[in-house]
Amino acid sequence: ATRVRFAPSPTGYLHLGGLRTALYNALFAKSQKGVFILRIEDTDQTRKVDGSVDALLNDLQWAGIECHEGPKAGGSYGPYVQSERLPIYNEYITKLLDNESAYKCFCTERRLNILRRDAMKSQRIPKYDNKCRSLSKEDINEKIHSGTPYCIRFKLSSDCSAFEDLVFGGIAYDVSLIEGDPVLMKSDGYPTYHFANVVDDHLMEITHVLRGVEWQISTTKHLLIYKAFGWTPPQFGHLPLIVNADGTKLSKRQSDVKVEDYRNKGIFPLALVNYITLSGGGFEHVPGAGVRLKSMDELAEEFRIDKISPHPSRLNPDLLQECNKLEIKRQLQNEQSSSAMVARLQSLVKELYADQNLNISEDHVKTVLNWAVSRITTVEELVSPKYGFLWILPSGDHDVDRELLIKLTENLKGLDSFDQDILKKFLKEFSSRNRVKFPVLMKMLRSVLSGLDEGPGVAEMMDLLGKSQSLERIKAAVT
Ligand code: GLU
Repeated sequence: ATRVRFAPSPTGYLHLGGLRTALYNALFAKSQKGVFILRIEDTDQTRKVDGSVDALLNDLQWAGIECHEGPKAGGSYGPYVQSERLPIYNEYITKLLDNESAYKCFCTERRLNILRRDAMKSQRIPKYDNKCRSLSKEDINEKIHSGTPYCIRFKLSSDCSAFEDLVFGGIAYDVSLIEGDPVLMKSDGYPTYHFANVVDDHLMEITHVLRGVEWQISTTKHLLIYKAFGWTPPQFGHLPLIVNADGTKLSKRQSDVKVEDYRNKGIFPLALVNYITLSGGGFEHVPGAGVRLKSMDELAEEFRIDKISPHPSRLNPDLLQECNKLEIKRQLQNEQSSSAMVARLQSLVKELYADQNLNISEDHVKTVLNWAVSRITTVEELVSPKYGFLWILPSGDHDVDRELLIKLTENLKGLDSFDQDILKKFLKEFSSRNRVKFPVLMKMLRSVLSGLDEGPGVAEMMDLLGKSQSLERIKAAVT
């Protein structure tokens, strides 16, 4: 069976790239009726950030990505947190020491720094010189005896371990020309990423590794480790970098990398997920077909690894707006999600006008949402100043013809329907009957109803506000 994993390090928050990796693994698992595993790679204790595992689980759940095995979900391949697997790594490092694929290295930080400095000086890429490979048994025993700290390194062979990347195609190079022997176990007893990653992917029976392209340079090394163990490696596919629309790198400081920021801005999970798939590749796109929101099941059905392009994935923020609009529309059509949306907007409004003791009916909120759906890209927009008139009586003085408005109120009272078409006709007639220019009347009404100089049409606004609220506002302006 297909088994894939998302293996984040808890070093902060989930960003867009991480979400894509998780999503594509989950979609792939779903499409293959396989298993999606979450594994926490926390062996670099210095980079660990408190609370980030919970934040991560929360973000994944919000996005609708479910894992079948993991720290919370459990499973029979656990523990799923690397810091809880130290005895396992110890057991497996012994195997590599025994078959002489790995060796103890006693080089001090000072010596490594000197190597680095010398390399920089002569403009070479710094590279460990593999000195401890050739230590004699006696040297080793003596150093261990005297308590010299050591790490364990892997003997890189010059075997180039070519592999077929599921996204990038054939990749082959001799990593030993580029790097010195990599550390597998640090002197503090923790494994490095490379070692723990390979051991766990093997023990958890991972069949496909889909991960960010930044890990591609590690894959050759990983394959050599698999070989040293005599294990069959999984298949590897690397996901291209996600970049801005203009091709520049996403910066961590921009507010559009954290999944959490999207959520706080009012982006809905399904919109974000669809947005990622639109930019991230992996799907057949019919040019000019327009954006259609797909469910997780549909996405899984349509997802193809070989449709992922190796070129950087450019984000197109317009598509995110488009997706969120579609998601708002979709949610309004469903009874359950629409009442949730109404409740949310209601509480946003309450919060905004906390000092005013507003009583805004559910019906009004519903009317507003249905009216606004073609105008907004997030529900949050409806609590921006532009839409303040929807909720509160505008303050300020209005330059109005009191008598005229009092007369209008009397006439409006008799009107049964506040449907905007009927209102429009009525206001036209009223203006000509009272010899006031229509635009003048409209300007006056717009001002007392919304406090704005522009916005939706006056009749439309009155329709939205309803009869009693409209009359109340006109009355307030004349008394
Ligand atoms: N722990 C690595 C990360 O934080 C995982 C890379 C991989 O999937 O192998 O991205």
